[in-house]
Amino acid sequence: MTELLFRDDGYLRSCTARVVGVDERGIRLDRTVFYPTGGGQPGDAGVLRANDGATVAIADTIKGDGPDDVIHVPAAGSALPAIGAEVTAEIDWGRRHRLMRMHTCLHLLCAVVPGAVTGGSVGDGRGRLDFDVPGASLDKDAITAGLNKLITEGHAVVPRWIDDAELEAHPELVRTMSVKPPTGAGRVRLLEIDGVDLQPCGGTHVRNTAEIGPVEITKIENKGRQNRRINVALVI
Ligand SMILES: [Zn+2]
Repeated sequence: MTELLFRDDGYLRSCTARVVGVDERGIRLDRTVFYPTGGGQPGDAGVLRANDGATVAIADTIKGDGPDDVIHVPAAGSALPAIGAEVTAEIDWGRRHRLMRMHTCLHLLCAVVPGAVTGGSVGDGRGRLDFDVPGASLDKDAITAGLNKLITEGHAVVPRWIDDAELEAHPELVRTMSVKPPTGAGRVRLLEIDGVDLQPCGGTHVRNTAEIGPVEITKIENKGRQNRRINVALVI
């Protein structure tokens, strides 16, 4: 089990950690800032630095067997660290920050476009969501304008935990939710964009919508009778 530092602070770029496992799948640490692939967001890349200066390039990060099990996948041909070694784990921050901006932008897209989300993907500088929209023609320019309005308005983006009982006692919290939160596990991580969107999400996001910067809808594709794929890109 790994302590998931990115869950409470998505802005942590590095941390010290101890290597607790090495196998053919990769390297496990006792704590990490590396986000593992999940929820449509790709895993982090970066580097592990040992005290003696040796480095291991990390090409990808994936989930292991349990919910808090994170595997750092080394680049091919890397010399692996020893179990027990102290390392500094450092993510590729430029890439991660672009992923955080796009991920947060896709939450805004949920608020701008009416209809249930059926799938999605966060990429480096671009992303997409699939919506269950029967027949309607979606206006690319109107969606672009709606997104950029919410971005420039500068809404606060706040992750928080809520337990099942609190969620049940405050039905207004789920007013804008496009996804029904999974209950039964005791608590759920929610991502709230003040006044705009509230939904369960375990990913990493920017603190304020203004940090996303300008975006544009690049393409709207028909993917089946009721399925519209909306592609969005960061302009800068
Ligand atoms: Zn999210």
